Amino acid sequence: GPQADPRQASPKAPKPADLVIAVAAGKGGVGKSTVAANLAAALTKAGKRVAILDADIYGPSVPRLLGLQDTMGLKKTDKGIEPARAHGVSVVSMGFLTKPNQPVVWRGPMIQGAIQQFLNETDWGQPDVLIIDMPPGTGDAQLAIAQTLAIDGAVIACTPQDLALDDARKAMTMFEKTHTPILGLIENMSVFLCPHCGEPSEIFGHGGTRAEAQTMGVPFLGEIPLTIELRERSDTGRPVAFDDGPVADAFARAAEGVLA
Ligand code: ADP
Repeated sequence: GPQADPRQASPKAPKPADLVIAVAAGKGGVGKSTVAANLAAALTKAGKRVAILDADIYGPSVPRLLGLQDTMGLKKTDKGIEPARAHGVSVVSMGFLTKPNQPVVWRGPMIQGAIQQFLNETDWGQPDVLIIDMPPGTGDAQLAIAQTLAIDGAVIACTPQDLALDDARKAMTMFEKTHTPILGLIENMSVFLCPHCGEPSEIFGHGGTRAEAQTMGVPFLGEIPLTIELRERSDTGRPVAFDDGPVADAFARAAEGVLA
């Protein structure tokens, strides 16, 4: 029979932001968190007030990406959980509550419950955009999150490799099942730009995501090159999209696409 949209099941929970975006990937390691952090940076640069909920419970990397790796614990005031702040972005991460190297072995429903709690009980301060960095993959935790959270749309990160694309397709199918609009596909590690000569090399192939987006009838948000700078900047805690240059421009265009 017809099923009620579970995302409308609790109308009393206020929407935490004007626009709630999930950044998802069919599998780990494609740069989902890098994309989430840089989209946050690009949107901030474009004048938006941005928050990130790091829901990647198995490998929370948003704290390190934003230079918050030394943040331990979360303060709670009478208004709710107080997010950490980095470069103007509000951040709540499971990484703030777990010790480094301490594996999280929660099962799907527990994860979904924790994420829901973080989403609803944080004093986000009504940002323009809230980005949820999803756990990688399409298991029951991911499905539960997609089903129960008020997500306006999903951005799917993938690499040009066929295998990654197969996984990306699974992620898209998951969001379609939960009636979450796909805001677009973004191809990460698209071409390798040699830091010495600038020559592009197509290590994982190139262009497959654009073609896939066309086939699936979803927006293509652009290509992010594989660069040493991007990897290095991830480790220094200030996403490259805050600054100027070709990679920042690519993220700026992707951010425009997300808001379109
Ligand atoms: P995921 O969230 O999909 O698991 P991450 O965002 O944590 O992936 O990225 C995995 C690793 O790849 C990190 O070390 C990150 O710095 C690096 N990385 C991601 N995207 C790029 C890129 N375009 N160029 C260079 N390194 C990248």
